[in-house]
Amino acid sequence: MQNLSARQRTVGGVLEFSGFGVHSALPVTLTIEPAPVDSGYRIQRKLENGTIVGPVAVHFARVTRTTLCTTIDLGDSVSVATVEHVISALSGLGVDNALITVNGPECPIIDGSAAPFVEGILKVGLEIQGKSRRYIKVMRQVLVRNNDASAALEPYNGRLLDLEIDFDSKVIGRQRMIFDWTPRKYVADVSRARTFGFVRDAKILRQAGYALGSSLDNSITVHEDRILNPGGLRYDDEFVRHKLLDAIGDLALCGLPIYGRFRSYKGGHGLNALVLQGLFASSANYEIVYAEDLPLGYDALSDMPDGVEVRPYLRSVG
Ligand SMILES: [Zn+2]
Repeated sequence: MQNLSARQRTVGGVLEFSGFGVHSALPVTLTIEPAPVDSGYRIQRKLENGTIVGPVAVHFARVTRTTLCTTIDLGDSVSVATVEHVISALSGLGVDNALITVNGPECPIIDGSAAPFVEGILKVGLEIQGKSRRYIKVMRQVLVRNNDASAALEPYNGRLLDLEIDFDSKVIGRQRMIFDWTPRKYVADVSRARTFGFVRDAKILRQAGYALGSSLDNSITVHEDRILNPGGLRYDDEFVRHKLLDAIGDLALCGLPIYGRFRSYKGGHGLNALVLQGLFASSANYEIVYAEDLPLGYDALSDMPDGVEVRPYLRSVG
């Protein structure tokens, strides 16, 4: 029998999430549906008049803005903002194929983390599909810089993220996390980390039309040397963990899981997009390989949290 852990996966049912956008404050419903093999993550938007725009691949070539969030251009002057948390949830759990539909201009922020999406996906389980997973294997180092900030993709025997942040704030400061990626660890150590912001930036952001929907219910809010959220932090170093959550969502925009090491210092959506562009700038930087062709025993994406149903062949989505 073919090794099932090497096969592509989709979600085991249709999921629906309602909320509002953290930047636009507009109400929105997002659905995630099973999708055929080799389709990756695709997104479409349902307009008020019922017209569907898309679906298009959630791909870095379609990213139009990287200020504060990742926005995907659907064509016809239609876009969807803040896709990174739902994409992080799918990618973090090792889902290869899914169709996302939103009925507004921005994905719902819900609690500011990927946990609501993760919980929904784990409830319906995953379905193993009829074709092997492919990886983008990093063959040469790609490094991008912006002043003292940097991001790199490097050859590495596994999937590792090494991320460091350094904020001029006593409650954040310098935090580093090295993450050896499996879905089980993603759920436990990354998925619950919330987005964050500073009171000192709030006025300027709002004047520019950002963060209109942000509140203590969906963002860690830092004011001088204090965290204003009554419940405090979910992890001691929740800030670097959220940056990791974002990076996992951003790296998934290349269409396939990356086999290699990602390093980031003071990075963000902009540098993450640049390092992907750098990776694909030369065909000598990467190879596309089937899971079976990676070193023996590599099946980290099948390390799922306990009690999650992963079942083969129940649906006819390929
Ligand atoms: Zn984020």
